[in-house]
Amino acid sequence: METCWVICPGGKLGDGVSSSNVALESAAWAVRENARILGSTSVGCALMTSTGDVFTGCNVEHQYRSHDIHAETNAISTMVAAGHRSLVAIFVVAERSRFTPCGSCMDWIFEFGGPDCTVSWQRCPGGQISSFKASELMPYYPR
Ligand SMILES: [Zn+2]
Repeated sequence: METCWVICPGGKLGDGVSSSNVALESAAWAVRENARILGSTSVGCALMTSTGDVFTGCNVEHQYRSHDIHAETNAISTMVAAGHRSLVAIFVVAERSRFTPCGSCMDWIFEFGGPDCTVSWQRCPGGQISSFKASELMPYYPR
């Protein structure tokens, strides 16, 4: 069994983020169980809106892999379908040694969360949480 390790040693929890991370962490690991994968990585995602509501998504892979839906996009789409437009934090989980949201998902995170959205990830339940503002992950993202 692999041990948990710090993906990004500079990762930190911001003030006020740690309490929401607790709720998002358990929701993300729970929804990950529903992932439909053809490859090897199940991903779960939970986000919190500016009103404190939580939405989740898992990855859904298609035989034509260009149609794959990533967990982050799934969660954001579910949020929009429920009538919300603003997220403040997004939490991604996968048992994978190195990962962050991909560039396409970062586009969606910037679209509805903006540069101050907190982006966190974790590779095992209860493990180290890496947490950054979207603008820290992509400081030159066009605005
Ligand atoms: Zn992605």
